[in-house]
Amino acid sequence: MIIILKQGSTKEQIEQVETMLGDLGYGVHPIYGVERTVIGAVGAPGADKEDAASQLKALGSVDEIVFVLKPYKFVAKEYKPGKSIIKVGNVEIGGDKVVIMAGPCTVESRDQLLTTARAVKAAGATVLRGGAYKPSTSPYSFQGMGEDGLKLLAEARAETGLPIITEVMHVKNLDLVCEYADILQIGTRNMQNYEILAEVGKVRKPVMLKRGMTAKIEEWLQAAEYIVMGGNEDVMLCERGVRTFEQYTRNTLDLSAVLAVRDLSHLPVIVDPSQGTGRAAMVPAMSKAAVSVGTDGLIIEVHPDPAKAIKDGAQSITIPAFEKLMRELPAVAAAVERGI
Ligand code: PEP
Ligand code: MN
Repeated sequence: MIIILKQGSTKEQIEQVETMLGDLGYGVHPIYGVERTVIGAVGAPGADKEDAASQLKALGSVDEIVFVLKPYKFVAKEYKPGKSIIKVGNVEIGGDKVVIMAGPCTVESRDQLLTTARAVKAAGATVLRGGAYKPSTSPYSFQGMGEDGLKLLAEARAETGLPIITEVMHVKNLDLVCEYADILQIGTRNMQNYEILAEVGKVRKPVMLKRGMTAKIEEWLQAAEYIVMGGNEDVMLCERGVRTFEQYTRNTLDLSAVLAVRDLSHLPVIVDPSQGTGRAAMVPAMSKAAVSVGTDGLIIEVHPDPAKAIKDGAQSITIPAFEKLMRELPAVAAAVERGI
């Protein structure tokens, strides 16, 4: 269950609730917010929930108690019936506008990144993507520019004003990536790396959690719960395609997941049609499809010369293709009462 304390509860009152929960056998997971404290109480199979709730309510500092039957609580709709909005500078993720994140899969050079950054900004993107640490299936392929790549991203941000999203692959690099990134990306291969999830839960930076390529929606939400339980509430989910028997596309982009997440959770959801299809020709149409099912954002790979891209060239769209998509998207968004 989730115990929501009244605004202005004192430290002593919070401790009193925590002690009572502990005595009843619950695991206690508080989130000390600026305005209010919320305590997740888990476990205690022997405890009678109703009895526990009336005892807690008698404490006076308890505002509301919500019973959650799902295996995740803080990310559940029951915890927060509306939608969460994440602010990154002037950009709102989860609000009325669909946020467009665009840029290269991988930071390759100053020229490649700045050319792309200027072009996507001019076309209307509001977040710049670019990987400096790249997860690679093959140990022989490029692993990313590392800190030099982060520095180039910072330079592109300074010039264009676009906040940056970049992947953190390992706990040992977290502090370094945090120095540069505005949004931390957790890749599909790390969705169930519980150590990294717990660590990004401790930082105060928005996190975009990609769906594991074989993860069920429930497992994805449980992974998000790890981050929020650590105290970092600014989590957005990203559907990037799941692995199926199909080989024609790199992954099968599960757009129904957007609707499922909307039903189950208050977290914003982003769609990645680039990893989702693996085919540049499919990216514009799947972007429009994602907007029409209600995604809060898109993350799109754009490259000035996809044929020369070190990574993911086949799924990277050209700058003119991105410009065309940006001209076409507003009509789709308007049809579902959103803006771009
Ligand atoms: C990427 O965004 O370039 C990437 C590697 O994503 P994923 O973790 O979804 O494969
Ligand atoms: Mn990629």
